[in-house]
Amino acid sequence: MLKSGKDYLEGLRDGRKVYIGGELVDDVTTHPAFRNAARSFAMLYDRKAARENRDVMSFEENGERFASYYLMPKTKDDLRKRMETHRRIASWTYGLLGRSPDHVASFVTGLAMRPDLFEGIRPGFGTNMVNYYKYMRANDICATYTVLPPQGARKPELYEREGMRVPTLRVIDETDDGVVIDGMKMLGTSAVFADETWIGNLLPLAPNQVKESITCAVPLGTRGISMWSRKPFEKYAVSEYDNPLTWRFDETDSMVIFDRVKVPWEKVFVHDNADMSREIYVRSPAHSMGNHQSNVRFWEKLKLILSIAKRVADMNGIVHIPQVQQTLAKLAAAEALLSGTIYGCIENAESIVPGYLNINRRHMYAALLWTTTQYNDLCDTVRELMGGGPFQMPADISVVKDPAMARIFEDYWSVPGQSAVERMKVLKLGWDLLGSEFAGRHSQYEKFYAGPSFVVTNYSWLLGPWAVLDTMLDDLLGSYDVPAEYKSSKTAAK
Ligand SMILES: Cc1cc2nc3c(=O)[nH]c(=O)nc-3n(C[C@H](O)[C@H](O)[C@H](O)COP(=O)(O)OP(=O)(O)OC[C@H]3O[C@@H](n4cnc5c(N)ncnc54)[C@H](O)[C@@H]3O)c2cc1C
Repeated sequence: MLKSGKDYLEGLRDGRKVYIGGELVDDVTTHPAFRNAARSFAMLYDRKAARENRDVMSFEENGERFASYYLMPKTKDDLRKRMETHRRIASWTYGLLGRSPDHVASFVTGLAMRPDLFEGIRPGFGTNMVNYYKYMRANDICATYTVLPPQGARKPELYEREGMRVPTLRVIDETDDGVVIDGMKMLGTSAVFADETWIGNLLPLAPNQVKESITCAVPLGTRGISMWSRKPFEKYAVSEYDNPLTWRFDETDSMVIFDRVKVPWEKVFVHDNADMSREIYVRSPAHSMGNHQSNVRFWEKLKLILSIAKRVADMNGIVHIPQVQQTLAKLAAAEALLSGTIYGCIENAESIVPGYLNINRRHMYAALLWTTTQYNDLCDTVRELMGGGPFQMPADISVVKDPAMARIFEDYWSVPGQSAVERMKVLKLGWDLLGSEFAGRHSQYEKFYAGPSFVVTNYSWLLGPWAVLDTMLDDLLGSYDVPAEYKSSKTAAK
């Protein structure tokens, strides 16, 4: 079923407990800290189901339609359909929603392509995994994931503190109908806007951390769950004109606390298995499918960054300067390189699960490494092009309310062909994307959402074609020798 934006918003009114500091939010769809971002998520549901997008962004199976990010790819055309779906979603949000509904759904789809992995952990878990995938796609679920223990709480000594609760989420009880989980997980991006959270472990656990290995899914309105949001920037946006991106796209991040939450067995996928709680992502197509979506999202964000760079150069009359053209050319080349790698993921597709086709993992991890390490340099290049422009503008657009001030503003700040209000609009947008508090959060997001950089780099080490390269080099080295005339009798004897 393809959900409407209205139904999506209705689903968020499920009694969920969200805190902003000490304030308990009563409805995330109407609260001034969250309402516009909630509408942006709803917009994605409506546009996806709209007639002009329906064919690409959904597929039919047994007479029912499901979002294309639940499609298990078997052909290159399937991979193209998935990619174009990610791209359209990202283009409507300029790549600024990391947890658009296609992100976690792609992980879950990849996991459900390997039910045997789960069945090997405990009989029945494979069926649970497939059923959960079917439940998600049938209800067009928007999910986040919380797959990290809280920072600072990864030391075993914490378990021994007397009179204090253990912060790390783990199973504290097991009954006939499910498990009871207790503790905290980081860091639920968009948790306040998601129907469910996928709980698991993307970083390796020590072999004895079996109770922490729990991997399950829980609706975020479940009793016992609370979400402690970081500072929501939307609440502090001056106006849509002054902070257009903060205004619409602050997806927020929250610590999610689970206070003795019961999870039925049907929604448990890994239990008492420290090793597999991480391995499921890399032994299935999940990790590559989820992160491919992120690369496509980044591509759309890069287009916005590039468009601002060009507009600022135009506006400041510097675009004819060869050095400025060189800067813009390098940014454009970066965008072309990323898009080429994304298309390459499909053209060089590989099969890692019999019967299915996967995007090329080496290309995908190369793009992931590039995006997670280059974002700040790209932003800095554009900030440099902006010079002091953003700070030449008045504090906010209320300056035009008073006719006398509006006239002075227009006289002094306008340039031929551009009104002062138009120039300010571009610079406010640029600063919102590249310099604001919202921008600072994005810089941290792009660095860390896929894990710390040494982990992201490691994937390219693990999948490197070392054996092929060794053979190639050995063949070349073996094709010539020390010239005969230089060989001593000793060398020749060898
Ligand atoms: C904005 C944002 C959104 C996020 N959204 C989500 C989400 O939706 N779901 C989710 O589960 N998680 C999310 N995360 C969490 C993210 O996965 C982690 O931030 C990331 O894995 C790094 O872990 P950490 O923050 O605990 O840092 P740490 O592990 O504490 O690392 C801090 C620094 O120390 C370095 N370091 C640590 N150990 C080593 C080592 N052994 N060798 C070398 N260097 C080391 C790291 O490289 C890093 O620079 C999000 C993070 C951010 C910032």
